[in-house]
Order: sequence, then structure tokens, then C-alpha cells
Amino acid sequence: MTVRTTKLTPSLLARKILCTAYMPAPFGQGERLIFLGLHAMTVVKVIARHLRMGYMLKDVERCGNGYRTDLILVSPSGRRRVSEVKSAKEIKEVHRIQAALYANAEVDEIAVSNRNNDEVLDPRFVQDILKRAQLTRQLFTQDPSAATSIYTPHHDICGMCANVACPFLARPNASAPQMRARC
Ligand code: SF4
Repeated sequence: MTVRTTKLTPSLLARKILCTAYMPAPFGQGERLIFLGLHAMTVVKVIARHLRMGYMLKDVERCGNGYRTDLILVSPSGRRRVSEVKSAKEIKEVHRIQAALYANAEVDEIAVSNRNNDEVLDPRFVQDILKRAQLTRQLFTQDPSAATSIYTPHHDICGMCANVACPFLARPNASAPQMRARC
């Protein structure tokens, strides 16, 4: 499968940063509905938590160039926060990477939020991810077939991968992590 750079949404690019050969497994209709329901409930919890802390909600599901940020909030001191909401119990590296890709000049900080916690990303981490994103895009532009054959197992994403050419797919050991929840 050829992946054009124009199709690298933040969600897909985050996974490609971890493993350029990653290919998203199909999302069934029932699975999608469950995911959307859980996500919506988590968004409500995250908004309520921020309102209790004195934040103002500025925007919900703002669309950008091929992506959509979940929440934009403003703290009592005026700091603008993008919150990437995840319904997963545990905030994972792939979530942090995806959230970092929402950095832009209008945002003061980026957080990954689940029902219990808001994890604010270190600006150095964000800068590092933006560099890695640039390198990943370059690789897909310059040599897409090489990119899709470089296998780098990662426990956050292998369980949601559909690259049947990968020798690590579905191997029951540390190099081929177990199936994980898709959120
Ligand atoms: S299963 Fe293979 S191709 Fe897919 S993410 Fe893991 S290492 Fe990469």
C-alpha cells in the first residue's frame, strides 16, 4: 500500500513515527460506534473537569488541515490549551505523539486527557516529535516503498496493525505486542 504524505493525518502519522510500516487495521461499524460513544463520554468528563478548574471552553472538534482537535480551552491565566481526549485508561506514547502534532502558534500548551487525568506535554518532547514527523514525511516522499518495509515493533500499535508482510505481526512475544484496545 502506498501512503501519500497528504494522507498522513496526525493519528496515522503518530503511528508511522513509531513504525513506518504500520498499516491501520480495518475499523468495523460496531467497533466504531463503541469507540465514538466512549470518546464522547470522556469528552464530557474532560470538559467538566476543566470547568471546575476555572478553564473556559473555547472550541470543540475544531477542524484544521486534515485533522480535528478535540478541545481548546483557556486557563484562568489566559493560557490556551489543546486537549487531545482519549478514552483509554492509560495514556500511551502514541497518544502523546499524536497530541504533539497539534502544536501551532496559537497554542500555549498541549495536553492528553483521559477520564482521570490531563497530562501536559513537555515542550521539548513536542519539538522532538515535530522533527521526527518531518523526517517521517520526508521518507514517505523520497522512498515510500522503503518506508513501508521498515518494521519497528511497538506495543502501542502492533495490535492494531494490518501489515501482513511484517514478520512481527501477531507474534506472542516482546517483539510482537498483544492485541490492544483501539483508543
Ligand atoms: S506489526 Fe509490524 S508493521 Fe505493524 S506496527 Fe508492528 S512492527 Fe510495524
